[in-house]
Amino acid sequence: MSTYQLLMPGRVLYGKDSFTEVGNVARSFGSKVLIVSDPIMEKIGNVARCEQLIHEAGLSSAKYTGVDTEPTDIHVQEALDVCRQEACDVIVAVGGGSCLDTAKAVAVLMTNGGHIRDYASNQKLFAEKALPLIAVPTTAGTGSEVTKVTVIIDTVYDVKMMLPQPELLPAAAIVDPVLTLSCPPSVTAATGVDALCHAIEAYISRRAQPVTDMFALQAIELLIGNLRKVYTDGNDLEARENMALGSMLAGVAFSNASVTLVHGMSRPIGAMFHVPHGVSNAMLLPAVLEFTKESALVRLAVIGRLIKPELQGQADADVAEAVIAEVKQLCQDLQIPNMKTWGIDKDRLEQVVEKMATDALASGSPGNNPRVPTHEEIVALYHVCYDYD
Ligand code: NAD
Repeated sequence: MSTYQLLMPGRVLYGKDSFTEVGNVARSFGSKVLIVSDPIMEKIGNVARCEQLIHEAGLSSAKYTGVDTEPTDIHVQEALDVCRQEACDVIVAVGGGSCLDTAKAVAVLMTNGGHIRDYASNQKLFAEKALPLIAVPTTAGTGSEVTKVTVIIDTVYDVKMMLPQPELLPAAAIVDPVLTLSCPPSVTAATGVDALCHAIEAYISRRAQPVTDMFALQAIELLIGNLRKVYTDGNDLEARENMALGSMLAGVAFSNASVTLVHGMSRPIGAMFHVPHGVSNAMLLPAVLEFTKESALVRLAVIGRLIKPELQGQADADVAEAVIAEVKQLCQDLQIPNMKTWGIDKDRLEQVVEKMATDALASGSPGNNPRVPTHEEIVALYHVCYDYD
């Protein structure tokens, strides 16, 4: 048996109202907190509540709330400046993956210096431990609170840089499903499909391992069983709890087993066409699973028998096909736009598809797909996904 490694934050709090612990958790790491968040979090009161909880725990705080969806190197630099000026020694990120990823980049740059681009694709490794980061997700999607990854857009080269290094793991995660209740349906849908992609990709990845399999399968069951429920009734707390847990488990799974072709092809769509991450994954998932199916029959069949027990006894190929059909139906039920309905222009796609395929391959994720694609196959797949109904 091979040797496997499983990395996740040293402390994970989850459950209803776990956010109330944020001050106490922060106090175990430092005395001055930088809160990293975004304007929507500020507007709905999550930032003020975070400040209050931190102050009640006897700590002081500063804040950067300028993160936008799909964070860039500019957001990172702005937040870093505040962190340095205010001499913060612990960071709390409150928001979706965009806030969490920005905070992760700030935490490592505070102790390692340089520009985030210097570390893209592990060209340079972080030699120093990051400032302690407490990650508090408000979407059930990215799993960033438990991953060793940050994704930041390089505004000079228009690429989504992926940085996977252990120093990017948050020191602690607080997963409170109550914080996800305010997610509008479109965000709930897109982020939920992102989490489902993480779980499926981790399970079929060439780097899957026994423990990530356990996390991934549990996540798939929770996510498939609850995504439609939270989309139709955002106040269903039990379903929100299951989604938050599923998303976190999927995060541990993919952070250790890697994502595969969907994520590799999704990042260039996000960078080129400014499509939210979960939506760009959904645009690709069914067609990429079709492309991969023959090389992942057994594993797709395990997923199928888990989510549709009535398929027990059917041939692997039929069950795998049923999984793809279910994923396709799910994206339709959640009314997630496809490449055409999002407004991606076919001519513009033609102009940039070669670069997109190059960027997708360079990310390394396609190399973990059960069927490893060539550059030409990725170009062709972008076209298949564009025309996929
Ligand atoms: P997001 O953080 O961009 O948020 C999307 C929108 O929803 C924002 O406007 C945000 O303010 C709003 N929002 C978030 N939570 C809300 C709530 N509870 N109530 C109301 N509005 C809310 O979306 P995301 O999908 O969570 O994160 C996407 C980013 O995460 C992308 O940049 C992606 O590349 C990255 N990502 C990172 C990892 C990782 O492991 N680091 C994994 C997957 C994706």
